[in-house]
Amino acid sequence: MRLTKYFLPVLRENPAEAQIASHRLMLRAGMIRQATAGIYSWLPLGFKVLRRLEQIVHEEQQRAGHIPLLMPTLQSADLWRESGRYDDYGAEMLRIKDRHERDMLYGPTNEELITDIFRSAVSSYKDLPLTLYHIQWKFRDEMRPRFGVMRGREFLMKDGYNFDLTVEDAMHAYNRHMVSYIRTYERMGLKAIPMRADGGPIGGDHTHEFLVLAPTGESAVFYDRAVTDLTLGDRAIDFADRGQVSEIVATWTAPYARTDERHDAAEFAKVPEDRRVEGRGIEVGQIFFFGTKYSEPMKAVVVNEAGERVPVQMGSHGIGVSRLVGALIEANHDEKGIIWPEGVTPFHVGIVNLKQGDGAADAACEALYAELRSAGLDPLYDDREERAGAKFATMDLIGLPWRITVGPRGLANGRVELTSRRTGESEEMSPGAAIARLS
Ligand code: ATP
Ligand code: MG
Ligand code: MG
Ligand code: MG
Repeated sequence: MRLTKYFLPVLRENPAEAQIASHRLMLRAGMIRQATAGIYSWLPLGFKVLRRLEQIVHEEQQRAGHIPLLMPTLQSADLWRESGRYDDYGAEMLRIKDRHERDMLYGPTNEELITDIFRSAVSSYKDLPLTLYHIQWKFRDEMRPRFGVMRGREFLMKDGYNFDLTVEDAMHAYNRHMVSYIRTYERMGLKAIPMRADGGPIGGDHTHEFLVLAPTGESAVFYDRAVTDLTLGDRAIDFADRGQVSEIVATWTAPYARTDERHDAAEFAKVPEDRRVEGRGIEVGQIFFFGTKYSEPMKAVVVNEAGERVPVQMGSHGIGVSRLVGALIEANHDEKGIIWPEGVTPFHVGIVNLKQGDGAADAACEALYAELRSAGLDPLYDDREERAGAKFATMDLIGLPWRITVGPRGLANGRVELTSRRTGESEEMSPGAAIARLS
């Protein structure tokens, strides 16, 4: 992309309404614009990051054997009356009437809708196990929307639902989700710790939340520092192998890690003192096992091997895709702007032309731009007629991991400069070497 052809409405000033870094930087970098309280338009740069996160979530869910579909944002109230949640859910649910005075709602989550889909098509244990998921906008009329996309009213969530014959099968689904989530966050360049947590309106006692540690997080957390040393890496995982999956879960859940609702001071005191940490975290996901909470009232039953009709065992599993954009920035920024991890960056590299209009500089930038693209990379070429300082400030603000600086003086020696956004270190090299380094 050439910057002169793009839409990147960066702000010079710090927006007054933003209280935390990620909100401030998303507004300043032209990633989002508030449409109305807690509801945002995703501008091109923000939309690119959101799409990259979605892509990682899709890949990791499908690697775990989960099947994508797409359910609507608007639902009929009738299904929620069946489960009993229409009355229980409270003011967070946006209730709407259509022209025929029928009660509708904007889905805050989808347990009822997916259970209805399931029961309409599945009646035998032979069709189990089954895990379906989608990535779709949700609406919750939060009392205090704040921090930009971190606590929006409309937000993008991946929500997945497992249907199993037995509790053991459903626990395998639970474990599969935990492992696939750990991997998902790692690929995004984030450390998100599974912590024992509370069920909330989804219900169920068996649940973990995934928290990104950050001083601006809304949850108080207590953990054994040892948990922050664990990494999954890109080891081969057979998601059908119950032993392998549950062993990973056991490793990750062995160290003490809980949110404040589940905190147990006596248990925490058993952690060696130098490893005990009290901090704050951002909830970026949660997994639940809730058994027959929905299948029983909604009559989602299957016939088991013995020919008996039994309600299916279910769980649901969410990732806050739009919140993750904010969480990533909270964990990756400095005073100049965002620092994208390579796995989620909107563009791989920025090209800064120090002297737009100079024949040699323009030609070198054009060649770099074309070759980076043919190497499969997505460069952003700052081809504006601007001062070098302003170009650097924009690149630092939007946080691409690499910058190639091209100017007549360097080119006279056949050199461009490659700079890492994270370390600030620069190295001079030939344009070819820079391309080789990045691809
Ligand atoms: P919170 O405690 O922050 O209100 P929640 O526990 O109500 O979140 P879940 O029902 O567990 O949320 O939904 C799954 C994920 O969706 C959460 O882990 C979070 O990452 C994301 N999420 C929930 N509410 C919002 C929101 N208002 N804005 C952005 N993301 C959200
Ligand atoms: Mg909530
Ligand atoms: Mg919560
Ligand atoms: Mg939650």
